Amino acid sequence: MSAEVLQRVVEYVAQAVRRIEIRRVVFVLHGGEPTLAKASAVRAFCRAARSGLAGRADVSFAVQTNAVRIRHEWIELIRDESMSIGISVDGDRRSNDLHRVDHQGRGSYDRIKASIATLKEELPNWREQLGGIVVLDEHFAGLPAYSAMVDDLGFPRVKFLFPDACHDDQSIDTTQLTLRLIEVFDHWLVHDQRSVRINLFTNAIRRMLCAPLRPERVQSEFTLGVAILSDGTVQIADEFMSLQQWFSRQKSLSIFDSTFFDWLSQPQVSEICRASMVIPNPCRDCKFALSCAGGEVPSRYSDGRGFDNASLYCSSLYALHAHIAQRVLEGQEMLGRIESRS
Ligand code: SF4
Repeated sequence: MSAEVLQRVVEYVAQAVRRIEIRRVVFVLHGGEPTLAKASAVRAFCRAARSGLAGRADVSFAVQTNAVRIRHEWIELIRDESMSIGISVDGDRRSNDLHRVDHQGRGSYDRIKASIATLKEELPNWREQLGGIVVLDEHFAGLPAYSAMVDDLGFPRVKFLFPDACHDDQSIDTTQLTLRLIEVFDHWLVHDQRSVRINLFTNAIRRMLCAPLRPERVQSEFTLGVAILSDGTVQIADEFMSLQQWFSRQKSLSIFDSTFFDWLSQPQVSEICRASMVIPNPCRDCKFALSCAGGEVPSRYSDGRGFDNASLYCSSLYALHAHIAQRVLEGQEMLGRIESRS
């Protein structure tokens, strides 16, 4: 991304936060390999963004990298700006090296491991900054993948992502995935729940125990992603790309000759905002509506009903939430027995 585009990004976002209340802005650098950009240019952008939005919104930065090779100036930048780092790994060494190879056919697992070791040495707050990303696709190996991420690579946070797909895409069979996810949950609960953060699990437990997703909470937790491409094109975030026809209907806008409000006023963006603030009608009678809330917004979309569907991954989500609820109940019963004896 050129210096001209980076400068305009700051003006574009600053104009938005001056006009509407946006509490937090997170600039996520991703797509291609962001750490190939000049660290000095990104550092200048971070400074300009902090100063341009000062007093109006909390500003933070994140970078998604393959971590095959992170140059020292980038590690300094990540440390100085307290950037979050998301590292994508395809599970265990075997699966990763099958799918992530360089042009010489070499797998990336060992180089990722070396980069993580360096990051841990160089970043005093690595526990807060470092996280691994695993896509829950047909290659997800369950426990071997989890063990590689946590025991071997040593991630303190793991983000499990269902593949980007819409409700209409019924070709995905999630039976094996569900069993593996439940197996991973039990292992994590026994061994790692204090030391490793997995939002898919902790959010479900938290919402079941003490913080159900009430409508007003859903509205206040509402996050809207905007993608700005290297040529200045501004569009709906990438996770909606799998909704091909719907995605292609958005306007062609550039940060150079439009405002954030032009982007925000498109019907597709209004649809995303509405869908993010409500639990879909088919989920209202589900006993996990206040902990699952219909899953991720893109996975709810169908051509016939828009976003008013349960998630494409409903069967996995239902089974996972039912399993977590069972474990929570067992824990409560055990505590009750201990209390009654004392
Ligand atoms: S488990 Fe299924 S029906 Fe229940 S809230 Fe989640 S997506 Fe909706």
